[in-house]
Amino acid sequence: MKVLVINTGSSSLKYQLMDMDGEILLAKGLCERIGFYDSVHKYYGKDNYKSKTVKHLKNHLDALEDMLSYLVNRDYGVIENINEIDAIGHRVVHGGEKFSKSVIIDGDVLKGIRDCIDLAPLHNPANIIGIEACMHEMPNKPMVAVFDTAFHQTIPIHAFIYAIPYELYEKYGIRKYGFHGTSHRYVSKRAAKILNKSLDKINIVSCHLGNGASICAIKGGKSVETSMGFTPLSGLAMGTRSGSIDPALISYIMEKMDMTAEETTNYLNRESGVLGISGISSDFRDLLKASEKGNKRAKLAIEIFAYRVKKYISEYIGVLNGIDVLIFTAGIGENNALVRQLITHNMEYMGIKLDLEKNEQARGIERNVSKNDANVQILVIPTNEELEIARECINILS
Ligand code: ADP
Repeated sequence: MKVLVINTGSSSLKYQLMDMDGEILLAKGLCERIGFYDSVHKYYGKDNYKSKTVKHLKNHLDALEDMLSYLVNRDYGVIENINEIDAIGHRVVHGGEKFSKSVIIDGDVLKGIRDCIDLAPLHNPANIIGIEACMHEMPNKPMVAVFDTAFHQTIPIHAFIYAIPYELYEKYGIRKYGFHGTSHRYVSKRAAKILNKSLDKINIVSCHLGNGASICAIKGGKSVETSMGFTPLSGLAMGTRSGSIDPALISYIMEKMDMTAEETTNYLNRESGVLGISGISSDFRDLLKASEKGNKRAKLAIEIFAYRVKKYISEYIGVLNGIDVLIFTAGIGENNALVRQLITHNMEYMGIKLDLEKNEQARGIERNVSKNDANVQILVIPTNEELEIARECINILS
């Protein structure tokens, strides 16, 4: 069965075509700057074929048509015609309380995703555009929506309600939703496989550390707590996002900096985090280089990032009454040995003992980096959200 996975942003479209019989990636690509005259289509196809084309992709429908023309191309395509695609999996950012699992897309589901636009005004409209473009281009193909928030719908009420008047939850749906659910679910299932344990019987803390970063406490395969909240702005200090701050700072910053509410939200989303602290970059590779050269604020940014992760891990170990597995995933978690070392330093009393040598060797591959005598298995697991979405498609449709 061939599954096409689609992930649309406001001006981008990412895709992967997978043959799920052997879970083989057939082709993938990315259209960026959709709507501009210099849109870019990067495509990776058969026999390591790679191309980057600059052209005008007017809208997402245009991008989708372009993608299909690549997939069926005689020279570098991977299928003969579109009918070979059996199903389409869509990443949808926000499913609110309505969607606690993946669903087959029909008119009602589309309306449900629309109803959640208020909760994710930047993301859900783009996801809907992607779904509608596929409906137009490939009518009658089964399509499945896989929500970033769905995995966290098992978080208990005492963990998802904010300590503000309860009516705000009832009236406006203000509560913790959590994000990165597809990634946390994928790595937690991988961890159980790697350790040859039943997922129902283990407690996991999963650290998804990329540009956006979140931590999740997972009990028996279910999310019971996570660091992102009503929006992806809360929790850890991230590439450009502040993470949790004193809420009274918002009005204080607005006044001091003479900014509107929207400008302040942007400031906290785009100019804060390790970028704001270092004044250099949101990218950890740049921060590491600068820090090695003696830049104090780059060093401080890395330390603050690691310190916050450590605090969340400790908190979640308390929530779970101990853990069996600690997972590091996403760009920083998978590749940055120094950050993993800083985070796990001095956590022996919680059973966390990092093997420094194994840690140095783990880069972008699945690896157990804990000492042999440690109670907690520390795993580095590259995330694969697209594969998880394709698997969800297969599960739901069968
Ligand atoms: P997102 O998907 O949220 O945009 P990623 O998961 O791609 O983010 O993570 C991006 C972060 O991962 C960046 O800070 C980048 O520096 C870091 N990263 C990626 N590769 C490496 C590497 N080889 N070494 C160190 N850091 C890396």
